[in-house]
Amino acid sequence: MYSGKTEELIRRLRRAQIARQRVEIFKPIIDDRYAKDHIVSHSDLRIPSRSVKTAKEILRWAHEAQVIGIDEGQFLGPALLDVVERLARQGKRVIVAGLDQDYMGQPFEPMPQLLAIAEYITKTLAICMVCGSPANRTYRKVAKGGRVVVGGADLYEARCRRCYDLGRRAQAMAPIHEFTGETDARPQTPRRTAGARRKPSAPGRVRKQDR
Ligand code: ZN
Repeated sequence: MYSGKTEELIRRLRRAQIARQRVEIFKPIIDDRYAKDHIVSHSDLRIPSRSVKTAKEILRWAHEAQVIGIDEGQFLGPALLDVVERLARQGKRVIVAGLDQDYMGQPFEPMPQLLAIAEYITKTLAICMVCGSPANRTYRKVAKGGRVVVGGADLYEARCRRCYDLGRRAQAMAPIHEFTGETDARPQTPRRTAGARRKPSAPGRVRKQDR
């Protein structure tokens, strides 16, 4: 995220269009954050595109195309592999942009399998929001148990490997109330050390973190 991958995709597709190659551009219907009929980069470059519900739908519209662009490939599922192979076997140039890892740092299928079969791979990196190093991780700012600290567009940020790990560790260790944004009038209790006994909740009041 924020690595400029959509911008790079648009640049390559534009170049093909300038050379008068027949270009078809697709994105999953799930991604309508900016526009339904355009691919839009964070820097507001845009190019007309067709939204598809499934990867297979791409085959229906790609007959005449010489170049096929696909954005947010990670949302098109495992069927994308077969679709891309079929198009490439027909001699078409297929360019797919997508995230190779999810916010858990796990491979974001089918992108890793696409990496394996692709002739050319370009990894675009963002800049770590914490330290400024090259960043290839998407960090999700939530507390343990899935509660969200900040909403909307600020929910994710690019982080380097080190700052991603530090953040994940802090999320796992810190008491949950540090992340919920609850305004509690009681004075701050010192952080419990490992093994310290937890005070039982007051009777008749279920505390949020006890659920
Ligand atoms: Zn960093």
